[in-house]
Amino acid sequence: MSTIDKNLTSFLDIAADSDFSIHNLPYGIFSAKDGSPRAGVAIGEHVLDLSVLEEAGALTLDGGPYFNQDKLNAFIDSGRDKWTKARETIQQLLSADCATLRDDQDLQAKALVKQADVTMHLPVRVPGYTDFYSSEEHATNVGTMFRDPANALLPNWKEMPVGYNGRASTVIISGTEVVRPSGQLKPKADERPIFSPCKRLDFELETAFIVGKPNQIGRPISVDNAWEHIFGMVLLNDWSARDIQKWEYVPLGPFNAKTFASEVSPWIVTMDALMPFQTTCPTQDPQPLAYLRGEGAEVSFDINLSTEILPEGADEATVVCETNFKYMYWSMAQQLTHHTITGCLVEVGDLMGSGTISGPTPDSFGSMLELAWNATKPVELKGGGTRTFIEDGDTVIIKGYAEKDGVRVGFGEVSGKVLPALDFNFSE
Ligand code: CA
Repeated sequence: MSTIDKNLTSFLDIAADSDFSIHNLPYGIFSAKDGSPRAGVAIGEHVLDLSVLEEAGALTLDGGPYFNQDKLNAFIDSGRDKWTKARETIQQLLSADCATLRDDQDLQAKALVKQADVTMHLPVRVPGYTDFYSSEEHATNVGTMFRDPANALLPNWKEMPVGYNGRASTVIISGTEVVRPSGQLKPKADERPIFSPCKRLDFELETAFIVGKPNQIGRPISVDNAWEHIFGMVLLNDWSARDIQKWEYVPLGPFNAKTFASEVSPWIVTMDALMPFQTTCPTQDPQPLAYLRGEGAEVSFDINLSTEILPEGADEATVVCETNFKYMYWSMAQQLTHHTITGCLVEVGDLMGSGTISGPTPDSFGSMLELAWNATKPVELKGGGTRTFIEDGDTVIIKGYAEKDGVRVGFGEVSGKVLPALDFNFSE
């Protein structure tokens, strides 16, 4: 396990509760006024423009330039040695005892931009998006509500990380507004379905990892090597239409209920930054099959996660859920190994969702479906009002951070506002 060098400080003034300490250095794609999108690292309240450092010769990597681009795929594809060199160089440039950037006001003026003054963009081109279902508490809650409390988990659940292939085309960046989807609903069991705006719009509190190294078709990634293939993590709100889902999902799984918006946070926190916050998965019983066991197979991370709802015009948001990544039953290494075990190709930039992350207590459930228990227990909001699902005008904000020994490595947030459904004229 990596240790934290607490003597490492930046010449920049960084608040103790900032997500973006010198120990973090997450990558994103930003544009400033009149500028084209390029790569940056979040540090305190600033973005450090990596294309400026690269141009100035302060951040040179073989095979570059990598950072004057509108996606991070080329840099990620350059390999772990370059990730390590870039991280070490950027950390050194931002440290209090390095003069290169600290004492060069011209370079600082070009390379440091306030986060408040930039627009963030999708950080990677996402060739494929897969969503897992790896929280035992979430799967148990959903199984209890919709099937059978005595057999809430299906027999395959503890044998494999269950997942499905989603739509990469609707992976969107935080801040994108989400139009309430319409589709087929079936409110009455003995009548035909209707076409209607979704009435049970939900968030799903998730994280996702980004594949940093591909395999070859036909060649699975072993669980011992899986961590070599993971670049970093983001927060994910995997918006879901529960009523569309309920009618459509048998027998082939989620389809339109999950294809309209999978919203990610803009900063990719690297696995290097998260290593000091390692923990292990909950006990896996029964012992998984051999291909899911091995060194690093059950590595997890202590990451605090929360969801807030901010209704239109409200003065303050209400925290409706607080949970932690460490509750996940299956690890990211096991998910990636299982995903490729048949020989499936994964590519640089592929996004792998954790599945909704619920904890053991009712205030740690990662969706409205669970928090309001299938609309039977409305959740109270500050300033009045209740929610069973998400309403038009609501903004849903998911935040996450790891913290230990006074060192904080955070994700910032993913935030999305719901707009009313389109006005279809062809409904029945
Ligand atoms: Ca999901």
